[in-house]
Amino acid sequence: MDRAKTIEDIRLIPETIGEAGIEKDLTVSPDAMASILADKDLSVEESFHIHYEVKRRKENLHAGVDVRGRVRTNCSRCLGPMTHEVDLHLESEYVPAPPEMQGELEAQRTSPDTGYYRRELLLGQYIVSELVLSLPIIYTCGEGCRGLCPQCGANLNEGPCTCAAAPDPRFQVLAQLKNKH
Ligand SMILES: [Zn+2]
Ligand SMILES: [Zn+2]
Repeated sequence: MDRAKTIEDIRLIPETIGEAGIEKDLTVSPDAMASILADKDLSVEESFHIHYEVKRRKENLHAGVDVRGRVRTNCSRCLGPMTHEVDLHLESEYVPAPPEMQGELEAQRTSPDTGYYRRELLLGQYIVSELVLSLPIIYTCGEGCRGLCPQCGANLNEGPCTCAAAPDPRFQVLAQLKNKH
């Protein structure tokens, strides 16, 4: 198993990929993953594992990628520590870039499913952008997380707090208004 310094380093030379294709397993260190994710609210304590296979179909190359790992963060509702499992499967077809195409080829892919290659195939850049896009915007420890009581700050996953018993005075005013109609 190879150790990749960063995922971005994964570049393939299409000329060297024959009919049999290629297959590789990589381990990416927690530090390298943390710098890729570049999010101070996420920490990475274990290595990530990447497996990829590239097969040739005449001029076209087809890449299948699996990314597995874990990030640690805090639940946005109850603020408790939590783990988010990354288990991403990607498939991309790569076609030869037309001669007039210039600049960064990965930035010009037509869709997540179709990209371009020239002398190199920038598989690492594709993996990084899809990985970042796959992460949640808001992390919650579970769908049923009850969060914190907005009044006393108790973690409601551990049981109801005493605030629930005393009705909010603001709601009493609303109830009185309703009764007048
Ligand atoms: Zn939670
Ligand atoms: Zn409370």
